[in-house]
Amino acid sequence: MFTKNQQLEVSIEDMTEDGSGVGKIDEFPFFVKDTVIGDRIAMVVTKLKKNYGYGRLLRLICPSKDRIAEVCPSARRCGGCQLQAMSYERQLRFKREKVANHLKRIGGLDVCVEPVIGMEQPYHYRNKTQVPVGVNRQGQLCMGFYASHSHDIVEQPGCLLGSRENDRILEAIRQFLIANQIPAYNEADKTGLVRHILIRRSYENGDFLVCIVINGKRLLGAPALVQRLLALAPEITVSSICLNVNESDTNVILGEKIIPLYGPGYLEDSIGALRFRISPQSFFQVNPVQTRKLYEIALSFASLTGTEEVWDLYCGIGTISLFLAQKAGFVRGVEVVAPAIQDAKENALRNNLPNTRFYVGKAEEVLPRVYREEGCRPDVIVLDPPRKGCEPQVLETMLAMSPARIVYVSCDSATLARDVGRLAAGGYAVEKVQPVDMFPWTVGVETVCLLSKLHEAKHHVNVTVDMDEMDLTSAESKATYEEIKKYVAEHNDGMKVSNLYIAQVKSKYGIIERENYNLPKSEDTKHPQCPKEKEDAIVDALRFFRMI
Ligand code: SAH
Repeated sequence: MFTKNQQLEVSIEDMTEDGSGVGKIDEFPFFVKDTVIGDRIAMVVTKLKKNYGYGRLLRLICPSKDRIAEVCPSARRCGGCQLQAMSYERQLRFKREKVANHLKRIGGLDVCVEPVIGMEQPYHYRNKTQVPVGVNRQGQLCMGFYASHSHDIVEQPGCLLGSRENDRILEAIRQFLIANQIPAYNEADKTGLVRHILIRRSYENGDFLVCIVINGKRLLGAPALVQRLLALAPEITVSSICLNVNESDTNVILGEKIIPLYGPGYLEDSIGALRFRISPQSFFQVNPVQTRKLYEIALSFASLTGTEEVWDLYCGIGTISLFLAQKAGFVRGVEVVAPAIQDAKENALRNNLPNTRFYVGKAEEVLPRVYREEGCRPDVIVLDPPRKGCEPQVLETMLAMSPARIVYVSCDSATLARDVGRLAAGGYAVEKVQPVDMFPWTVGVETVCLLSKLHEAKHHVNVTVDMDEMDLTSAESKATYEEIKKYVAEHNDGMKVSNLYIAQVKSKYGIIERENYNLPKSEDTKHPQCPKEKEDAIVDALRFFRMI
């Protein structure tokens, strides 16, 4: 039907994950880079597959009303931004539609998605920049960003996303490398030394951490590099300088070993009232302005009253965990990167939040193990996995733990939709979906999703049981935890009691609990014990519901 090099006219109706426009001719889709939804374009067919094709933009016949002039001269080549030709307002709508479509198509969930929370100033928002170092066509050392779908380096000073100071830091490093004839790493033959430069900036105090990733264990003349970076003061304060050793043939940027050259080796930053230590290998959200909004939403979705047992899966340096710990009874965090957990423990100390415990390991291993061994039944689980989402063991264990609420924070709406679909099938209702724009000018969007446990009766709709015929010796099903809490609050001036306390009182009065419900195994666990006045209030409620 179509042929390569054929010229066609098409209207762009949609956009792919990597920001290519999608236009259809007789239901046959073409992917065309550098276009915007609403554009009418002339294109040339560059590649044809059985069910779709690729085209190159030749000419705009009628530009979309949402099209704007790209600000960055490298917008089309650089792989960093995909939506530079789309107005910011339209980007936010695009992201909302994307989340809603994923939830519907992948998760099978027809739910309301809130408008995306955007930025007032969507430029220079990133606190972290990772710059590859290589050699350009003229054989000179170069630094920049990878072009889309390739490892060609696009040199573009004045990037709109990173800190304004980055160029001066990079220039100081470039001059040092050239003066000392230190070669860039060559991916093709694995020779050369300098692979990447990682720059992080503290939003709180403006300090920078600079980390040079090398294919080796030494950087000759390192003290001179330190001097060059310190000489950027007073305009630019570089407070930590280090090397990272990465001798592997891999696309992963950082290796495991850090060699400090100057300063404490980590950066300090704050979000809201909390201060954090951030090691170079640890994950830290890249957009501090939006991170605060994101965490506040996660916290409000968790609806904490001060007594809850909470898990924070994929916790990084404990940012969300500590946010929650300010309002919860006890928080446990799980994270696979060991230095991040060291940061998390240190951060708990610094912020005086001892009601926390952190585990190093994979969530899919730690969560089932601790559940098996200790039978924890948290009130709330918050999770913030990487793009690939959760392993099935994590979802299964969460369902078995049966928390009242699950708050799922995600940077990939496709895997979010897949996982939330599974949780919904396991008895949870999607209550709220709030996207936050952490990555303006790119296709990325962060989403916070609140799920709440459906009442057993609602969930098992097909198992209608006549209450009279039920064996109520266990009395377990007479009143839900929420009903008990409501009764306690209404009859005791708004007193709040946690599921843990209710479970403790129930077990004390011989009401058979579901297996191990919240009962600590050993005597020395950190579970808080229900205070006497709350116990009395719960006992009243249990009497009212004729459970004792
Ligand atoms: N909640 C944190 C970090 C979120 S990013 C914050 O907001 O800062 C996701 C984190 O999951 C990263 O720190 C990553 O190291 C960690 N991670 C990746 N795979 C994991 C796994 N299988 N188990 C536990 N943590 C994992």
